[in-house]
Amino acid sequence: MTLPMNLHSAADLLRTGGLVAMPTETVYGLGANALDADAVAKVFASKQRPSFDPLIVHVPDPEAAWALAQDVPPLARQLAQAFWPGPLTLVLKKTAVIPGIVSSGLDTVGLRVPDHPVALELLRRAGVPVAAPSANPFGGVSPTRASHVTVPCDAVVDGGPCRTGVESTVVGFDEQGQAVVLRLGGTALEAIEEVVGAAVQVAKPGAKLTSPGMLERHYAPRTPLRLVGDTRSVPVAQRRDQRLGVLVFNPATFVDDAGFVQQWVLSERGDVVDAAARLFDTLRRADDAHLGGLVATPVPDEGLGRAINDRLRRAAVAPGPDPAGQ
Ligand code: AMP
Ligand code: MG
Repeated sequence: MTLPMNLHSAADLLRTGGLVAMPTETVYGLGANALDADAVAKVFASKQRPSFDPLIVHVPDPEAAWALAQDVPPLARQLAQAFWPGPLTLVLKKTAVIPGIVSSGLDTVGLRVPDHPVALELLRRAGVPVAAPSANPFGGVSPTRASHVTVPCDAVVDGGPCRTGVESTVVGFDEQGQAVVLRLGGTALEAIEEVVGAAVQVAKPGAKLTSPGMLERHYAPRTPLRLVGDTRSVPVAQRRDQRLGVLVFNPATFVDDAGFVQQWVLSERGDVVDAAARLFDTLRRADDAHLGGLVATPVPDEGLGRAINDRLRRAAVAPGPDPAGQ
């Protein structure tokens, strides 16, 4: 099928209540018409996503975003100007056209203009805002290629590998209209601070402004993952006995690799942007290797490295009781 034909039918599917997995620059999303509560309900069912975890709504341009929001703080417009299209989600007070299921009953909605030509074309053709969480079973590794999409849906649009590779940075606003980062992601905190002109807080669990979907365990491969400060803390005998693999930032991190049955380098050139683009792909490959466990070390905590470390920390949390049941 040619790309335009594919997009044409995918846009039709979206308009008529179907589920379409679509590429964005962050990860592949599982899209549905955000104005159609029944279609959105199918997204939650397909991903087995708990209903308390709100979806991000994707639009083709800032005007379409402002039409879905009210009382937009001036800083939100400034951030949109600086980073849209791009991996930044703005959480704004919603208008009544957004059904409650999209925002898990909150009076706000997360909005974003993705920086991907196929996503933008699809959104324009669909002519409706598209609610799209990552197209993976809830809690698992996000898809960064069309072939990674395994959740039930009506169509998968292939737009090639995702350039950014981690989810969008989510920014909310307090009563004074000041920005708070609710989730670290593909837009660097430092870049946001440059636009704001001051330090920006990253929301802590239990803070007044938080994101309901920020669960302790998330982004997890099936293989148990252990995050260690330094691989030397893992005894060599254990590496062999437990068939452990190791995931490090760059080749220079490999001072101590004896006994690991397999090793992965996130970025040969030691670049956090490059590492972010390869993170989920690498976790999938580690899963395919059927190891006893995976040992990871953090990457430099700067730029997109913060988002990578956030995901590695959450991936390393042991599975607990069903979060929906808490
Ligand atoms: P994803 O699972 O990548 O689609 O990301 C969705 C995440 O965005 C949620 O888990 C929340 O953390 C955040 N989010 C979306 N909408 C809102 C909202 N209205 N208020 C706060 N956080 C939101
Ligand atoms: Mg997700």
